[in-house]
Amino acid sequence: MKLPKTLEKVSEFFKRLPGIGKKTADRLSLYLLQLPQEDLEAISKHLTQLKKTVKKCQNCLNLTEEDLCSICQDNKRNKDIIMVVETPLDLIAFENGQIYEGVYHVLYGKIDPLNNIGPDDIFIKELLTRIRNNINEITEIIIATDPDMEGEATAMYIRDKIKEIDYKERIKVTRIASGVPIGANIEFADYMTLKKSIQGREVFK
Ligand SMILES: [Zn+2]
Repeated sequence: MKLPKTLEKVSEFFKRLPGIGKKTADRLSLYLLQLPQEDLEAISKHLTQLKKTVKKCQNCLNLTEEDLCSICQDNKRNKDIIMVVETPLDLIAFENGQIYEGVYHVLYGKIDPLNNIGPDDIFIKELLTRIRNNINEITEIIIATDPDMEGEATAMYIRDKIKEIDYKERIKVTRIASGVPIGANIEFADYMTLKKSIQGREVFK
């Protein structure tokens, strides 16, 4: 037997989300049916607004509802140090620890040839333009991509590109320390691990 049509449509949507199989999708749609009508209306309103209001910060590409994100707007942040992260969730992991006072650049992915993701498919060009435009102010770039194969390849690519721009090697390019276990995800690392990874960062040769 099939679910009623509307329920089936909702379930089909959930099934498209990462990590959700048919059974879980069905269970989630049934769960929604138990929620108060006003909750469902509120969430559908947010869903409708999602892509209209949430955009990328003009400076660092972090998610924001304004032109600049709250970090780039904050005068207390050290704009001379940029930490390069893969996703906005990695940025949030570092922010939640309150362990870092510089600013960020979000790549939205990593170089992953097996899945056809090259340097031009993530926001590396934007990072290099930002460095080029602020070459005399920036003192350090911390590369905080995941310590897995793709994250390392991305880090190396970025390091080499920075060297091309910064031929006098004024800017210190560092890599977070291996406090984050190899092959692990920054998004899920705990506060102490992230703190150690920043404190123990090393010049990336
Ligand atoms: Zn920003």
